[in-house]
Amino acid sequence: MRYECVKAKSLLSKPHVADSWFHMNRSLNAYRGCEHGCVYCDGNSEYYHVDNFYSHVRVKENAATLLRKELKKLGFTSKSELETETLWSFLDDEDAKRIAEKVPRKLVIGACGGVSDGFQQAEREYKITYRILEVLLDFGMPVFILTKSNLVLEYIDLLKEIHERSFANVVFTITCADDEVQKVFEPNASSSSERFAALKEIRKAGLFGGVMATPIIPTIGDKVDNMTKLAKATKSANGEFIQFGGMTLKPGRQKEYFMRVIKRRYPENYDALVRIYENNNTYGQPIWKRLPANVMVLGRHVCQQVGLRDRSVRHKIPHEYDSNNKVLGVLLDIIFRMNMFFGLPRSVTKPYWEVAAKIERGVEDLSKLQSEGQIDQHLIIDSSMKVTVEEILEKGTCKVLQNLEARIDRMVDTELDADISASPDEFV
Ligand code: SF4
Repeated sequence: MRYECVKAKSLLSKPHVADSWFHMNRSLNAYRGCEHGCVYCDGNSEYYHVDNFYSHVRVKENAATLLRKELKKLGFTSKSELETETLWSFLDDEDAKRIAEKVPRKLVIGACGGVSDGFQQAEREYKITYRILEVLLDFGMPVFILTKSNLVLEYIDLLKEIHERSFANVVFTITCADDEVQKVFEPNASSSSERFAALKEIRKAGLFGGVMATPIIPTIGDKVDNMTKLAKATKSANGEFIQFGGMTLKPGRQKEYFMRVIKRRYPENYDALVRIYENNNTYGQPIWKRLPANVMVLGRHVCQQVGLRDRSVRHKIPHEYDSNNKVLGVLLDIIFRMNMFFGLPRSVTKPYWEVAAKIERGVEDLSKLQSEGQIDQHLIIDSSMKVTVEEILEKGTCKVLQNLEARIDRMVDTELDADISASPDEFV
């Protein structure tokens, strides 16, 4: 393994607005390259321009300093600066509130990225992620972590401090219930059972946490048995949810490496996988009709059997209104269901996304606006969207989401043979 210390020029990603997958606003990579060596890893594709992805890890040694600078540039002030520059501790609550109101709304920072795991082995030596988390604590930023390593447990005290100031949401990627199968596909990550044990500890410590069961490998992981075991283990670790997802294979390095491993370890699955991905789609999308199972639909079914949420949870950001968080959570569920289950065009999800984005950027308390009859003026929405928002405020859900979920449940009943190109009109 080759580690190379590099000076990064920038760290934070462009803003993620109304992100219906991970509910984060910005993300970062402490490292480039990842020694976990997952056979299906998207980061290995040419798309990310990281050569020798699995064996050459670039360590961003200046990441914490850079993050501090970038957060300040975005208008945030750290607690340590407030204490020295404004004698924060002598301010009464009202003064403190006024100062807090002048700083921008907190961002959920994903201390993970597409091209690395922040808790890979290099972290033991360089502690870049640890220093990043210290900065995020100082700035009071909520943190989202996605990892395949139980090394995260060594930082539990720091994460608890973050959770006290804002929140820490630690999500484990776990795709194979069987540790032996998992070792084939994620050779250097913690075993699946270690990750479930780590999730249990995270939850015991009072932090948020769940499981992203993605990518589920077609013909191997998409069996009811594997998926049910994953859901049951998540539930017994007290995870908040398990969210299933399929696998993309970009043509080139990523697909070639994956197929070589399949040929060697699962020769009986090789031909089927070649056929599923023979379209060489630029984004790695499979030929949907050739998939043995729709893992999203099966995942919902499995979660219903086990009694577990099949969707990630949107948590309230500090100083955010409860009602706004409630509406955002449902709108993001709608967008996710429309996109991932039905592949509906952007023109259908756009109105929901626009309202979600508006709320996320900051509007008044929606409950208050509702009681004053001012929701449509503030959100600038039409009457049907107003009905949806008001329904969510009153019931915590709405007809659009209920219709989508009812349709998904019917897809389960018809054993995944349903027409997935449903008409948008069916949901509104
Ligand atoms: S942990 Fe994530 S980034 Fe690392 S090799 Fe696996 S899939 Fe890729």
